[in-house]
Amino acid sequence: MNVIVVAAGSGRRLGGNLPKQYMPLNGKPVLYYSLNAFEKSPLVKHVSVVISHDAENLYDDFLQKYGTEFSKLTYPFFGGKERKDSVCNAMSEISNHFIPDDNLIAIHDCARPFLPHDLLKKLYETAEVFGGSAPALPLVDTVKEIDCDGFIISNPIRERLKIVQTPQVFNFSQYLKAVRICKEKNVHVTDDTEIYSRFAEVGKVKLVAGYSCLFKITYKEDIERAEKLLSEGSEWKL
Ligand code: C5P
Repeated sequence: MNVIVVAAGSGRRLGGNLPKQYMPLNGKPVLYYSLNAFEKSPLVKHVSVVISHDAENLYDDFLQKYGTEFSKLTYPFFGGKERKDSVCNAMSEISNHFIPDDNLIAIHDCARPFLPHDLLKKLYETAEVFGGSAPALPLVDTVKEIDCDGFIISNPIRERLKIVQTPQVFNFSQYLKAVRICKEKNVHVTDDTEIYSRFAEVGKVKLVAGYSCLFKITYKEDIERAEKLLSEGSEWKL
């Protein structure tokens, strides 16, 4: 399977000068940890990082320092305005140069540095059977749908809702078609399961149990949480 690690976001919610992908966790950038799990997995052939033009220097510095530790990296691709544009660019590049032998592609948020090895295997096996797979957690709080004035308009059943994480794994050719349609129609989406389930021909995505350590670094306190996890060494460890 090939992997796309999307790292072309601005990380604005975190504040500070450095985009979150390059922020240090115990001395090494977030990106280092996100790539590590894929480097170690025998299921993964190529890993492509999607970067922003603004962060080209940061990525070059990263390669200078850590490049020798990542043998599966292709050259980087440039991202687009929205996440789906970044993924679409990467999918097109891969389809021209690095088509995966097993016809599976995993797409992972760079901002989720702790990926348990067992999970990757589970996602791979599930996508092989159903075409699409993603990790997900149950909700603890109840969710409401509101109108633009903040009034509740629907009460979804909590047991039927899930919080979806990455990596998300798909049949490569089906997903390539789906993401191209999504980009062409300019539909706003926030993850790849939505693209696949709405625009792929079959588009079935089976969810598997996610992990709390797979959280997305979004706010300042997430950096502290990540450093604490690193010092404890726990379930995410390979
Ligand atoms: O904004 P959000 O936290 O949902 O972004 C999830 C991931 O998508 C991040 O790793 C971010 O770098 C990436 N992204 C991207 N291109 C964009 C926007 C986000 O690669 N235009």
